[in-house]
This record gives sequence, C-alpha cells and structure tokens, in this order.
Amino acid sequence: MSDIVQVAEMLRGAGRVVALTGAGMSAEAGVPTFRDGGGVWKNFRPEELASPEGFARDPLRVWAWYRERRAGLARIEPHEGHRVLARWEARFESMAVVTQNVDGLHHRAGSQRVFELHGRLDETRCVACECRIVGLDDLGPDPRCACGARMRPGVVWFGELLPVDTLEAGMELARQADVCLVIGTSGVVYPAASVAEVAKQGGAAFVEINPQPGALASIADVCLRGGAVEMLTKLDDAVGR
Ligand code: NAD
Ligand code: ZN
Repeated sequence: MSDIVQVAEMLRGAGRVVALTGAGMSAEAGVPTFRDGGGVWKNFRPEELASPEGFARDPLRVWAWYRERRAGLARIEPHEGHRVLARWEARFESMAVVTQNVDGLHHRAGSQRVFELHGRLDETRCVACECRIVGLDDLGPDPRCACGARMRPGVVWFGELLPVDTLEAGMELARQADVCLVIGTSGVVYPAASVAEVAKQGGAAFVEINPQPGALASIADVCLRGGAVEMLTKLDDAVGR
C-alpha cells in the first residue's frame, strides 16, 4: 500500500482532523520560509528583527522589513493545498487548521476554523493601548497611534507569549484529533510544536508532510515526502467525497 493510500484510509475513518502548518505550507505560494536556503532570514538572525528588543533598538528597520513582507502578501495567492484544507471543513465532522503562519493564506483560501498561534501580518497594534488596525495598507515608516505611542506589527515575536486562548483552543483540537497532519514545519519552534506532540499523545495518527524530515519526524506514523501542494492534492483525490 502506498503512503498516500495509507493516509487516505486513516482520513476516511477519521471524524476529527487537525492540520498544524508552518512556513513550508506557504512556500509554494511564494512566501519564503525562514530556515531554508534562500529564506528571508538567511542574512541575519531572526532575533535581530522579530523580537521586542530588536524593535526597541531599531523600530524603523524592523518596520522596513515588515512593510516589505506586507507588500509581498498583496502579490500572492493561496495555492491548491490551502484550498484542499478549506474544502475539508465540509468533508470531516471537525476540520481545523492550527498555524504558525502569519500570512493569512488559510483564511484567504476559505478556511473558517483557523487558529493563528503567531498572530497576523495584516494586523498592527499600539504598544501602549488596545488600538488595532487591520489591513495591509502601508502605514509609513514609523506608524503612530492616536494616543501618541508607536505602533508595531501584530505578530508574535521571539521571546513573547502566544495568545493564550488560541493556544488552548489548538491544544484542545489536538487532544481530540483522530488524525494530525503536520505540514511544512521544521517543528523546532515551541510551543507550536507541542500541538503536534499533544495530538500524538492523545492517540491521533500523526502524518508529516514535508520534503525533508523535521524535528517531529521521529514521532510520525507516516511521512509523506513531498511539497504541500502535491501531497494534499493527491490525498484529496485519494480520500474522495
Ligand atoms: P521553518 O522555516 O523553520 O521550516 C519550514 C519547513 O517547511 C521546513 O521543514 C521545510 O523542509 C519545509 N518545506 C519547505 N518547502 C515545503 C513545501 N513545498 N511543502 C511542505 N513543506 C515544505 O518554518 P516553521 O517551522 O513554520 O517555523 C518558522 C517560524 O517562522 C514560525 O514561527 C512562523 O511563524 C514564522 N514564519 C511564518 C511565515 C509565513 O507566515 N508564511 C513564513 C516564514 C516564517
Ligand atoms: Zn495607542
């Protein structure tokens, strides 16, 4: 039995499915990953830009980088793999996406149940008050809130806590899952990776979709070695209606 057929059978018998997605999920949509060769962070350490310390040190540089990433999002579209996961909300009793991605592509593909552990690139929030701006408009080199304080990207940075409710919801979905698909993540960023570990401990069948083994490959029941678009499209065909 091929690996695809095996996973398709797991899915056919499943009521509750959770997908944990990482940067690799968006790679084929044209969003660079962080750790692969050619990734956006190749020439500097992530902590320099994506951290509260980095922002305090040089907010204009951090904003320059985020403005580029936000502008990049306006030029790309979700791919067929994102759309397969969105369609599966109608196929399974429970289908949810828990993502480390901040690009919003799962939403744009039509997924309704998306839990964004690391925030969103299209959100900007005040460092001092509750003010929030949603949208990809260019807010200039050093956006300020009406209260006078500086505004920052609405993503979770290194060293920051994840949104508690979102993380708890993701963990609960993982605990209850029959199948957990771990797609395009290196599995080294915690606590996101623990969502997959919790699914495994809760008895879910664990499937890794990644051209290369990630840190979670050792606990996978099946590894589909290939890109997200190819593997999700094949699975969708094999699972049927
Ligand atoms: P990562 O960059 O550490 O790892 C990417 C993984 O994707 C690797 O394991 C790689 O082998 C795999 N991959 C590459 N091409 C693939 C493809 N076509 N199909 C499937 N898998 C593929 O990413 P991570 O584990 O998500 O951790 C990085 C952190 O950076 C996360 O916290 C995330 O929030 C953030 N990030 C987000 C985005 C985004 O929103 N699109 C992009 C880069 C980084
Ligand atoms: Zn404010």
